[in-house]
Amino acid sequence: MKETIALTYDDGPDPLWTPRILAALARRGARATFFVQARRAIENPDLIESILAAGSEVGFHCVDHVRHSERPREAVVADLETGLELLDEVGVRPRAWRAPWGVETDATRALASSHDLRLWGWNLDTHDWRGDGARRMLKALDAQGGLRGGDVILMHDALGPGARRGGCAETVALTELLLGIAEGSALTPAGVSGCEGVLA
Ligand SMILES: [Zn+2]
Repeated sequence: MKETIALTYDDGPDPLWTPRILAALARRGARATFFVQARRAIENPDLIESILAAGSEVGFHCVDHVRHSERPREAVVADLETGLELLDEVGVRPRAWRAPWGVETDATRALASSHDLRLWGWNLDTHDWRGDGARRMLKALDAQGGLRGGDVILMHDALGPGARRGGCAETVALTELLLGIAEGSALTPAGVSGCEGVLA
């Protein structure tokens, strides 16, 4: 059986960049997980539909992009509950959750368990928000050990807080490079939950 790697994209969906990532995935018949900002999801229901139609997965990222460690528990609860309501409006009941900046607290973990969500971090960070070129990012991933089965790779299909770039073109280019490598090494790019879209 082929081993899987998870390509994950945070902070979208974005009308310009998400379709380009989806097109790159489609060219290789690959799937991924998009950890969305819930307001962007309801502003772009067509993009959510496209992600799911492509067999990729929509996970929850946040409503407000604030570290849970910097918020009272009630604010973390409210963010998740509002986010799930918003995602429900676009037909998504997520199974996967990535907290803003990947920062999890006891409150995050308790909430995840009570809402039947699995928390996801990553083991390979592309730092794509910094604005490096795709080949440079690939080299940095090689320095972290390169691609192996079970890897969870962090990328962004939209500009989030702290982004030092004007767009996500290099993430699209990196996606194409990673998909080529995966194909050559018998790795299957999939979403974190087993790659199927989850419709409510
Ligand atoms: Zn983010």
